[in-house]
Amino acid sequence: MGLAVSRLHRLSAGVVAACIVAAVILVLPVARVPAPTITPFLPLFSMAVFATEGLTAYLLWTQFLITRQAFLASLAGTYAYTALTVVVQLLVFPGVFSPTGLLGAGPQSAVWIWAMWHAGSPVLILVALLVRLRFPVPLMDSQAATRFGALLFFAPVMLSLLVCYLSIHGMSWLPDLVNGQSYKRLLGSPTGNGIIVISVIALTSLVVTTRLRTVLELWLSVALLAGLGDIVVTLVANSRYSIGWYVARMASVLASSTVLAVLIWEISHLYRELHAANARLSEHASRDGLTGLYNRRYFDEHFMEALIHATTSKRPLSVLMIDIDFFKRFNDALGHLHGDDTLTTVAHTLNSTLRRGGDFVARYGGEEFVVVLPDCDAQMAVQLGQTLRIAVARQSIAAPFTPAGHVTVSLGIATFTGPRVTSPSELLAQADSALYRAKNAGRDCVVA
Ligand code: GH3
Ligand code: MG
Ligand code: MG
Repeated sequence: MGLAVSRLHRLSAGVVAACIVAAVILVLPVARVPAPTITPFLPLFSMAVFATEGLTAYLLWTQFLITRQAFLASLAGTYAYTALTVVVQLLVFPGVFSPTGLLGAGPQSAVWIWAMWHAGSPVLILVALLVRLRFPVPLMDSQAATRFGALLFFAPVMLSLLVCYLSIHGMSWLPDLVNGQSYKRLLGSPTGNGIIVISVIALTSLVVTTRLRTVLELWLSVALLAGLGDIVVTLVANSRYSIGWYVARMASVLASSTVLAVLIWEISHLYRELHAANARLSEHASRDGLTGLYNRRYFDEHFMEALIHATTSKRPLSVLMIDIDFFKRFNDALGHLHGDDTLTTVAHTLNSTLRRGGDFVARYGGEEFVVVLPDCDAQMAVQLGQTLRIAVARQSIAAPFTPAGHVTVSLGIATFTGPRVTSPSELLAQADSALYRAKNAGRDCVVA
């Protein structure tokens, strides 16, 4: 499930985790020092968390639809829970949209929503880990998977609406946590301690059950650690708009954006891999298995293109048909395996003798090759044909029962000079008939 962790990932996650711990330790002594009240800070912070958590939920959900890993749907639900809760918290926060907050909020609503957010999210992570244990492999039935995934996603969304409703309208049952801007009572209270304990349990369970083997699991643990830092600093800070309160909000943004950053990194990594795999695949599809030369398919496509280009640019184009002489006798005398090796040697010789960019050689079939020479007139083509013929002969591959005693090739050449439009098959037929004449003329020669 997901990309495996590399050493670099482990190292960077370790560094980020160490920075989080160090920042928390450094800020604790000054956490309660009051700082200026910057009113636009909270809306900016909430929107950042909402956008990153919302996007994370969406990306995890799309990953679930593709992989059908129930864990991903459950994790998507966790992020959707936070995204929704943070928006409601912003709406009810005193002094943002109205002095007392919207939606009929009371003075305790915002802090209770904060508590529900920070307690609910680790609980949902634990649920996701249980789902992961229960469904370790992708769900089989696609329709049932989507239904189950939707349940895992929308249950936290409904839960968010429920806890927000309770935090706003159930105030008579819930203890007071805030007095003015101070929420001193939270630190050391069952609620405050409960949030810390459940976050520690979620982080530990994540590490123990997953062993942080995938990139997503590794960085999710960093996100949980940042979330824990956020909670500790918020609780110690004691009141809104203190140094600790501001720092904790930033830790919260870090916690929410970590997994998003990882998902984006994963997407670009996969995109790179896909691109490389595609290139390999298309290269593979255009190569001949035995000789490694371009195959007939590649030739058909590119010969057509080269001919169109020659026609439009009014430049000549030559094509050479090359056939190994007496190859049947060669096979009969030395066996097909040796014949295959010889075909490969001839192929490499032809290929390495071509020097101009744009020229290419392909295996046309059996022991026949075809060379395409753009911007090459008949005279140049004959010269190059001779060079190729001599290059093969110079390999001095012993060929018993043939007149030359070694492997030779015959070549037929046709050249397109315009202005009349010629079809690829017409030009090839001309080269083939020239090759036929070369065979009749005694082989080991070039005919144009
Ligand atoms: P010519 O000089 O007239 O071209 O004689 P030839 O024997 O080369 O011509 P022919 O077309 O009769 O025979 C081609 C032979 O090429 C037939 C087959 O044994 C051999 N051949 C074709 N493809 C392969 C291959 O992939 N591997 C091997 N070893 N031999 C092949
Ligand atoms: Mg042949
Ligand atoms: Mg032959």
